[in-house]
Parts: sequence; structure tokens; C-alpha cells
Amino acid sequence: MPRIIYQGRVHEARAGQTVLDVLLEGGEPIAHACRVGACGACIVRATEGQPPAQAQVGLRDAWRAQGYFHACRAEVSGDLVVEPLGEGARVAAQIEERAALSPTVARVFVRLLGELPATAGQYVTLHRGHTARSYSIAALPAPGILELHVRRVPGGALSPYLCDDAAPGDPLLVQGPLGHCIYVPGRPEDPLLLAGTGTGLAPLWGVLHDALSANHRGPIYLFHGALTPGDLYLVEELRQLAATHPGLRYVPSAVRAEPDSRSMSAAPPELELGPLDEVIARHLPSTSGMRAFLCGAPEIVALLKRKLYLAGTSLRDIAADAFVPTAPPAASTR
Ligand SMILES: Cc1cc2nc3c(=O)[nH]c(=O)nc-3n(C[C@H](O)[C@H](O)[C@H](O)COP(=O)(O)OP(=O)(O)OC[C@H]3O[C@@H](n4cnc5c(N)ncnc54)[C@H](O)[C@@H]3O)c2cc1C
Repeated sequence: MPRIIYQGRVHEARAGQTVLDVLLEGGEPIAHACRVGACGACIVRATEGQPPAQAQVGLRDAWRAQGYFHACRAEVSGDLVVEPLGEGARVAAQIEERAALSPTVARVFVRLLGELPATAGQYVTLHRGHTARSYSIAALPAPGILELHVRRVPGGALSPYLCDDAAPGDPLLVQGPLGHCIYVPGRPEDPLLLAGTGTGLAPLWGVLHDALSANHRGPIYLFHGALTPGDLYLVEELRQLAATHPGLRYVPSAVRAEPDSRSMSAAPPELELGPLDEVIARHLPSTSGMRAFLCGAPEIVALLKRKLYLAGTSLRDIAADAFVPTAPPAASTR
């Protein structure tokens, strides 16, 4: 029976268990959230033994070489000696500032107290106590400052704190970054398609601003989808940005038109109704030759990826980060 040795404590694994299951069952307080290798919350390090390749997908080469892996993706096949993330993989940080962007979304600024080279559009994992959740970097407004957009999930372990209670100076640990949605200069004429739902706007905001700063010459389409108009945010800022950048087309959309009682803001005049994939198809029947960035709800990201591929976008030109939510507790035990 293979064994996982975590900080000197020995845990026996049953067939088919993941390293995360074994450690949780053994009472180890391992932070975890999505359980599908998307959020990075449960990354640990193997100091002896080889973690399976699929548990290291998406990690930087340097991290792979040092034995880091997603504990939730590692089905146990042999003995492993495992340690928590080292100091080098997390930096101390503190809340810098918090402000409401809408009734349900807050802009949270985090000050890093150590080195963490990051690019807008990537995501970091915030650790507070034993809770870890991932958030995309919307901007780096000053050296060592991360801007995040956080939607309040009622009853959630971290987002209500970030949206309502986080105070300047509150300590955090920040891990990462990971993620694929970054603007890479070099093909300045390419048309760009940025599409996301909810706070999926955060990484797109980063990609958009980096593209504009790099004087991207091709047209840029930004599709921001929501359930109702009240779930949109940064509408005025994006409208103004589009007014001053002729190459930028901003298309806010909502599935339903009903005014949202939580929001006092009027629906933007550009608002389109319908599911995001249909709104995009109305504007861009063919997406051949476009570079696409997709973020937000996992089912929408998966749907858009498929539809854009069918509409002509090459899969290697699609960068996508799905905001996979925390797996329900039922999935925690086998
Ligand atoms: C790569 C990545 C990037 C992310 N970037 C952002 C970001 O920029 N901004 C942002 O606001 N969030 C982002 N998230 C989501 C974020 O990590 C948390 O999942 C979210 O903030 C909820 O955390 P919580 O601790 O408040 O709630 P939790 O304690 O995690 O959840 C409470 C309950 O609500 C359920 N739940 C949570 N979210 C959802 C949902 N969307 N749909 C249905 N059920 C849900 C959970 O399953 C659980 O039962 C990202 C996630 C990933 C994986």
C-alpha cells in the first residue's frame, strides 16, 4: 500500500485516492478549493518520489523541476514524501485598499511584501489561515501592488471577507502566479477577442490595458456578459475607453433584461441581450485569425472555446482561464 509522508507523518493510501484525499483523510490541514487543478490552492512539493505528470500540468518549468504538483490531480501510485509550499513559492502580503465596483463586486488592492513577478491577466492564490482562493490580476497599478476584482459569494469562506471586511494592513499570503490570459506582444495586427462573464472581466481588463499600452494595432473586441445588467461593472470606464480608442469595440451583454434591484446604475445603451456565445456570433460570424482570451464561469469558457474553434479560431490562439468554484464537500471524500 503506497504511503504519503507529509512533514514526517505517514499516511497510507487506498487504491484510486489522490494525494489530497489521503492528506485530508489523515487530518492534515491542506488548503484546497476546486479539486480539478484549476485554482492552485492545494499545490504541494514532493521532495522524494515522482508526482504524476498530469498533476504538474500548467505549472512553470522551475516549479515542475522542484517537484511542485497539484495534490488534487495526483492519484497515488507510489510512496511520496511531501512538504507544504516553501517560502519561495508564497510571499507575505497585506490588504492595501478595498472599494466597491458594484453592489456585488469589490476592487481589492493587495500589497506584496516580497518578490512575485506577475503579469496582469494571470491569477494568484490568496491564503488566509487555512483558506485559499484564486483571483485574477486585473492590473499592477504600482510596483508590488495587485488589483483584483472579487465577486461576493454569499456564505463563501473568503470573498465576503474580501468584499466587506478586508482592512488595510490585514495579512495574507500570496502564491503564484499561474494562468494563460496574458497579452504577449509580437503580433500587433492580430484582431483580439476578449470575452468573459462576471469577474472574468478582471483578467480581460489586464489584457486589454496591456494591449492598448503596447499600441496594439488590430481591432479589439471586448464582450462582457452577465446574467442581468446589474451584474456588469466598470461599464462607464469601458465606454470611455472605447470612445477614445477607435480600434476597441466594447459589447456589454446580459441574459435577462430585468432591472436588477441591487444595482442603481442604468443599463448601458450598448447593452445586448442574449447568451454570450450568441452575442459574439452576431458580431463575429467568423473568428478566423483572431487571438482569443476567455475567462469566467467554467461552463461558458468551455462553450466559447468550442464555438470559437468552430467559427475558425485556431486552438493555439485561445487562452482560457476558467474560474472553477470550490468543489462541494460531497466530492471531498471517496
Ligand atoms: C483560476 C481562477 C481564477 C479566479 N479568479 C477570480 C476573480 O478574479 N474574481 C472572483 O471573484 N473570483 C475568482 N475566482 C473564484 C474564486 O477563487 C472563489 O472560488 C470565489 O471567490 C468564491 O470563494 P469563497 O471562498 O467566497 O466561496 P467558497 O467558500 O469557495 O464557496 C461557497 C459555496 O459557494 C459555491 N460557489 C462558489 N462560487 C460559485 C460559483 N461561481 N457558482 C456556483 N457556486 C459557487 C461553492 O461551491 C461553495 O458551495 C477564480 C477561480 C479560479 C479557479
